[in-house]
Amino acid sequence: MEPTSQTAFQGNDAGGQALDGRERARLGARAAEAARRLAGEGIVAVALTWVDVSGITRTKTVPVERLEHAAAWGVGMSPVFDVFLLDDSIVSGRHIGGPSGDLRLHPDLDRLVPLAALPGWAHAPALRYGQDGSVHPLDARALLRREADRLAGRGFAVQAAFEIEWAVSDGGGEEFSPACRGPAYGMTRVTELAGYLRDLLESLKATGVTVVQLHPEYAAGQYEVSVAAEDPVGAADTAVVVRETIRAVTIRHGMAASFSPKVEAESVGNGAHAHLSLWRDGTADGAVNAMAGGPGPYGMTAAGEAFAAGILRRLPALLAVGAPSVASYLRLVPSHWSGAYACWGLENREAALRFVTGAEGERATAANLEVKCLDAAANPYLLLAALLAAGRDGLGADLRLPEPVEVDPAGLAEEERAARGIAPLPASLAESVAAFEADAVLREALGEAVTDTVAVVRRGEIALLDGATPQQVAAATRWRH
Ligand code: GLU
Ligand code: MG
Repeated sequence: MEPTSQTAFQGNDAGGQALDGRERARLGARAAEAARRLAGEGIVAVALTWVDVSGITRTKTVPVERLEHAAAWGVGMSPVFDVFLLDDSIVSGRHIGGPSGDLRLHPDLDRLVPLAALPGWAHAPALRYGQDGSVHPLDARALLRREADRLAGRGFAVQAAFEIEWAVSDGGGEEFSPACRGPAYGMTRVTELAGYLRDLLESLKATGVTVVQLHPEYAAGQYEVSVAAEDPVGAADTAVVVRETIRAVTIRHGMAASFSPKVEAESVGNGAHAHLSLWRDGTADGAVNAMAGGPGPYGMTAAGEAFAAGILRRLPALLAVGAPSVASYLRLVPSHWSGAYACWGLENREAALRFVTGAEGERATAANLEVKCLDAAANPYLLLAALLAAGRDGLGADLRLPEPVEVDPAGLAEEERAARGIAPLPASLAESVAAFEADAVLREALGEAVTDTVAVVRRGEIALLDGATPQQVAAATRWRH
């Protein structure tokens, strides 16, 4: 393990700070109080989760009586999970690998919630520390917190939310068999699974998630839920809680949920679009949305435009984090609303960046940027950290956006796409990894250990699925995330 990126975390508040005796005592006392309250509500155990580099949520759980100890001293877990592949096989990188070592998982008590969908269970996202009390350099959550802090240092805050798409299968088998027959966006699909969807909404609400919309999606058995925007770490935590709630309610109803980028080789996939808005702090009236009310395209301010342009410029490299699976590239194809071209447009569902203004009158709060080329195989913490770093770089360089695109780029002749500077996004994970490894801004933001580990894990998955047909890739990925 290289100490360099570890020291970069020192002094970073709320999750980035090294633990000393006083802090351990404070955390233990807080946890003891929370555990008493939870036990009174019938909670038996707490699941501490973190998301690995392959995008899989891993966990250790403790009886509620052990929460105090876990908050002060952590729960042991091997660092090797950072190099797990989606089939649970293990690769080895320069920074992580092998059976030795121990990390301590500490519950983030600020995000400790009873999981309504799993009666008797509570959930807390874990912060990962070394045994010496320093933040683990591969702790993606601490990394995201640091990126949010770096933007705050420039007077900006980001509000973020993930849209979650999933497909519901009606059995426990390996194959996907849609649990409903109604058409895309059809009310029939709501009627067919009305009890399930109602239970889901109730569970999400009781877990503290603010749902803003739920609808049947395009692909067979597919639905989508969108949630309110919040600070980036909160948005990633919420993405984890929403997914586990969907999974739990689906299982309780005797069905199975797939969040895979491509549930079936021949269909439209599951995306996990990220919505981002940039807010400028520091006025007496509170923060102001930099995506609206400005002189730039469709009302963006110069800062909002620069932030968006910073993301647009780095999309090929960002895909190694945001479309991180071999299956991601079965999904990321033109004319499937997945945003397969590196361009942006107003409400254009075929552009990787869809700018959303909202209706006239609510733009100051509603305007945001939707990054569409992303899926739920991504670690939401790493992904938001990388997106924030790209946006921050755009701000620093005061970048401008190219001309917007308002058509499906796939419908343009190749010469016209070239003339308008519209490039297809990487068509394979190998291409994205090459762009990622060559990207100095992301390397600096994520640190050597994370950059190396991401590349090693991606190459491991490429090798694992080498020569597999699209059907085999879909099958290998379907029930993993
Ligand atoms: N399912 C599409 C995807 O793969 C997205 C559909 C939508 O625009 O919400 O991203
Ligand atoms: Mg959708």
